[in-house]
Amino acid sequence: MSAEIIDGKALAAAFREQIAEEVNQFKSETNFVPHLTAVLVGDDPASAVYVRNKQRACEKAGIQSTLKRLPAETTEAELISIVEALNADPGVHGILVQLPLPKHVNETAILDVVHPLKDVDAFHPENVGLIVQGRPRYLPCTPYGIQQMILSTKMETAGKHAVILGRSEIVGKPMAMLLIQRGLGADATVTICHSRTQNLKEIVRTADIVIAAIGKPEFVTADMVKPGAVVIDVGINRVDDRLVGDVEFEGVKEVASAITPVPGGVGPMTIAMLLKNTLTAARIQSGSI
Ligand code: NDP
Repeated sequence: MSAEIIDGKALAAAFREQIAEEVNQFKSETNFVPHLTAVLVGDDPASAVYVRNKQRACEKAGIQSTLKRLPAETTEAELISIVEALNADPGVHGILVQLPLPKHVNETAILDVVHPLKDVDAFHPENVGLIVQGRPRYLPCTPYGIQQMILSTKMETAGKHAVILGRSEIVGKPMAMLLIQRGLGADATVTICHSRTQNLKEIVRTADIVIAAIGKPEFVTADMVKPGAVVIDVGINRVDDRLVGDVEFEGVKEVASAITPVPGGVGPMTIAMLLKNTLTAARIQSGSI
């Protein structure tokens, strides 16, 4: 039987509608307008599209959005002072530095400068630490969106084996941290695989939940998936003129119980969670929580 297709677009639309209502209520109660500033360095076309989508989503939800577009030659020192100015601006509640940054800029050095209260991507060590300890301030957007998608399948995650492919700071590691916490959509037993993992296929085959985030087109094939598993495809790969995920969708959907498409899966949920974090940031900075 063919898997349930987890419709990220529809799920994200429902979240965005709910967030828009909360933004409205927050504005009328506090007179604060949540404000996200995105910093985009250079002219990578994919990054420009991502930022534009995030800005549009903000505007639709009643969140003010500003774009700081900087030339590719911007130095690390210049970027640090721009982020510091945004940190000091009480009218800005969330700061998003679009990755990747140009090679001459140390990404970690920049992300570390973002004020933890304005760090709506949850990349700052303070926010990562809070996530690890199970008392998050902000949840990382992509893993948070994925957790909501798993919840939408009604699969009981407690005690299940989740295998995550990829150990990046943005997806793999924080995903593992969310799934090992206590509570709804968590309590899983988690394995993280990476490029040095041995017997990767065998490990993935034992998974009740597979989360593929390696950036390798159609890497996860049907023979690697246990029948009935929930499969979340984070990958975004351009092959010729098509966008494909890290999962071979057509084959795997015949084995899995639920699967996310690419596009229209994890991407839209990532944006919805960014809006949620921006509203939380505005609430914290307005003193209303
Ligand atoms: P990174 O490149 O930062 O990390 C990739 C990870 O995959 C690394 O840990 C790497 O291992 C591992 N890996 C690479 N090749 C293999 C392999 N053959 N077998 C096992 N592990 C492997 O990627 P990101 O986490 O930033 O992104 C992953 C994918 O998800 C990309 O396609 C990206 O575009 C997409 N993405 C999508 C988002 C969305 O909203 N939909 C958001 C963020 C990312 P090692 O550490 O050993 O090198």
